[in-house]
Amino acid sequence: MRPSEFLTALVSHFFVSHSEFVILDCDTCHIPMAVWKQHGVNPPETVVEQMKKKAKELFGDAVTFRMKMRKIPSHYHFHIIHHQE
Ligand SMILES: [Zn+2]
Repeated sequence: MRPSEFLTALVSHFFVSHSEFVILDCDTCHIPMAVWKQHGVNPPETVVEQMKKKAKELFGDAVTFRMKMRKIPSHYHFHIIHHQE
């Protein structure tokens, strides 16, 4: 599946491309973020759970999620904060 124009504009590095979402480096924050592929702000809870699960697979159980959407308020995403031990 091809990423949308929105994603192409944003992407520097993909970690994962899933049928419902992608995980990639945020160009603004330089940390990973998970982005729902559909335009909108209310993904099904099951999709959100899948996004969080995949983030933990990639970055470990110690990650936390910054759910506040400042830069792109109309397109569901969250940042993945990785805590170094
Ligand atoms: Zn960001």
